[in-house]
Parts: sequence; C-alpha cells; structure tokens
Amino acid sequence: MIQAIIYDLDHTLFDPGSIDKQIFESAFEWLESAGMFSSEEMTMIRKDFFSISLNAFIDKHLTDTTREAFVTKLKNLPLLPKLATYRDGHVVTGINVTNYLVTSGLTEFQNQKIDALGIRDWFAEIFIDDPLRLTWQDKEEIMKCIIETYGYQPSELLIVGDNPHSEIKAGNNLGIQTIQILREGIIKSNLADQCIQTLAALPKIIDK
Ligand SMILES: [Mg+2]
Repeated sequence: MIQAIIYDLDHTLFDPGSIDKQIFESAFEWLESAGMFSSEEMTMIRKDFFSISLNAFIDKHLTDTTREAFVTKLKNLPLLPKLATYRDGHVVTGINVTNYLVTSGLTEFQNQKIDALGIRDWFAEIFIDDPLRLTWQDKEEIMKCIIETYGYQPSELLIVGDNPHSEIKAGNNLGIQTIQILREGIIKSNLADQCIQTLAALPKIIDK
C-alpha cells in the first residue's frame, strides 16, 4: 500500500514558464555586459535558462568565474509575486498519504517559488538538490534518505515527476514505482512505470 508520494516541483506541480521572465533580466543583462557572448549565444542562453536544468545550463554556458557572479545575481533577484500551481495541484492535499517534495535548483530560488506558491505545508519534508551546494549528490541520494529516515519500503512509495533522467531514473534505481506526468512540452518516456496527463489520475493508481 502506498504510504507516501515524492513529488518533483518544476513541470510537475508548477509550470516554471509561468514566471514573468523579466524577473531574470538583470542576471542576463549582467552576462551580456560581461561581453563574452555573441547575440546568438545570448539568445540561446535566455532560451536554455528556462528549458534545461540549472546544472545543465551552467555546464553548457558558464565558466567558473561567470558562474559565481551569475549565481549571485540569481540569489538577489526581486521577490517573486504570488504564484499558482498547475490547476490540478489541489489533488496533492486531497490524497491521504504523506507528501515529500524533492526538487533540483538553486536553494534560494526554489524556496522562493515554494513560498510564492504557498505549498510549503503540503509536505512533511522538502529537499532541494542544489547543484552549487554539496548537501546532496543527486535525487537518488535524497530518496534513499527518505527511505532510511522514515523507514519506508520502496513498495510503499510513489514518485511523480516529469524528468526520466532525474526523479524517474532515481526511483527506478531504488525500486520505487514511478509516474511520469506529461505536462505541455514533456516527451513521454518508457522509463516510467506509468504516464499520466493529470494529477487527478493519482487516487486511482494508489487505490490499486
Ligand atoms: Mg521537473
């Protein structure tokens, strides 16, 4: 029987594309002013920032020096306005299981999003896999920690996320049932045990 669900945040509970991109402009402008990127590269940088993970973004575009300054800019962005989850977000609190959030990204920014969404109290614990901190190696290590800390069997857990190379892979490695949610733009993967279109499909899966 499923006791707990481990959710991913971006593209699972929240559409990061719904954030006003203007908020990041000061950080991009700084990169632009550093003078190391052509206008084509800057276009790619602006596009990639919103479509790939922060880790992948840093590896692809930044050097050690630009990384540090860019991340400092990101940590000092203006406060986010109130945000909303996907419309089916309410399902999370309607299921009688314990919820955990395991998300990747800059700690400060992920926390800002969680608070702007007002979802912090949906979860028994929130874990942030921050590529710039050494707290966690990856999501798999976090999930192992959840299993050990709370004494779950892998069969008592369910992972809900969009990324086959992140939470889905981690869940598969640990023998946890994985559900890929196919938000707009997400490509269906055969690595997940099941794919769903909406969180509203979860209660049925859990009752099985
Ligand atoms: Mg995601």
